[in-house]
Amino acid sequence: MSQILDYLRSQQPAMVALLAQWVNHDSPTFQKAAVDTMGRMVIQAFVEAGAVVADTYPQPQMGDHYRLTYGQGDEQILILCHLDTVWPPDEARQRPFTIENGRGCGPGVHDMKGGTLIGLFALKALQHFQLQPQYKVVFLLTSDEEVGSSTSRSIIEAEGKRSRRCFVLEGAHNQSVLTTSRKGVGRFRLVVTGVSAHAGVEPHKGVSAIEELARQIQSLHAMSDFERGITVNVGVISGGERPNVIAARATAEIDLRVTSQADGEAVSQKILGLQPHLPGAQLKITGGITRGPFEETPQGLALFRQAQTIAEDLGFTVEKFSSGGGSDGNLVAALGVPTLDGLGSLGGGAHALTEYTVLDALPLRAALLAELIMQLE
Ligand SMILES: [Zn+2]
Repeated sequence: MSQILDYLRSQQPAMVALLAQWVNHDSPTFQKAAVDTMGRMVIQAFVEAGAVVADTYPQPQMGDHYRLTYGQGDEQILILCHLDTVWPPDEARQRPFTIENGRGCGPGVHDMKGGTLIGLFALKALQHFQLQPQYKVVFLLTSDEEVGSSTSRSIIEAEGKRSRRCFVLEGAHNQSVLTTSRKGVGRFRLVVTGVSAHAGVEPHKGVSAIEELARQIQSLHAMSDFERGITVNVGVISGGERPNVIAARATAEIDLRVTSQADGEAVSQKILGLQPHLPGAQLKITGGITRGPFEETPQGLALFRQAQTIAEDLGFTVEKFSSGGGSDGNLVAALGVPTLDGLGSLGGGAHALTEYTVLDALPLRAALLAELIMQLE
């Protein structure tokens, strides 16, 4: 048991050196060339660890996606990683990888270059000890997770359907946890059309799209039910042309979070069915659930319990965590595949300047993943 951990501890300097290299190469979602270079760097490391590049999925605008496999077997387990980050080009030049108090800092260090690194070193440990997992291990490295996975979604779902289990290498935030459920996410856009008029001369002839929108925002926010885990947030609004014109147009962008599929459907119907308050105003509402909820299931929980026991044997504890954010794990969990998320790095500050990963936890988490792959039934 501790053999793998001992080996990975001996690899910690190599892990940190490679993490520094990855962090210092920016990979913003919309910079195809940069993400592709990152992809090649990561793939080279995986191939050196014994993986085979089974498929490349070329993309015209986003970075390419890749499917790598390790080992043999009629059945497979799926491990999800993403190559892209939320950071702009040149971020790493201004804010390169640094170490402060045992924490690695820099853009993408936790979300999820640290996670991908953990996947790589789990594989290296298997290769080092010539361990053959019972199932074929499939890694998907995708390039558009941070913008909702529109181009990788069908690939993730197709691989998910073929998989017995799914592991997601998103990070654990601020505490030693694994993610067993995530909220579902919906996105909607509301366009209000009113009637313009001179605000001083003929205000009665106008229908204010802004007034209508203001009322709709109240209806939308009233759909939130914190106890049930439902939140509706109007996060962006715009509208109007000039102060002396009754606004003919106003728009809102809406975020919905739910914990169950049933709530997702019910609240989506409510949003799509909104009716105007003001006579003469028109509403056009588009959107829907983009990532269905990743609900905790008995099989998912059993997977977590197994990971918890392995962690204890390795000398640390993990608790389960329910996240309000979505990940690609939602896509696979929605197919009914037992999924365990948050297996990436222990750190925090994802998408923020405070982003960090705990360097001493890298070998522990890689050992946990390697043992989990080997002990899976
Ligand atoms: Zn991520």
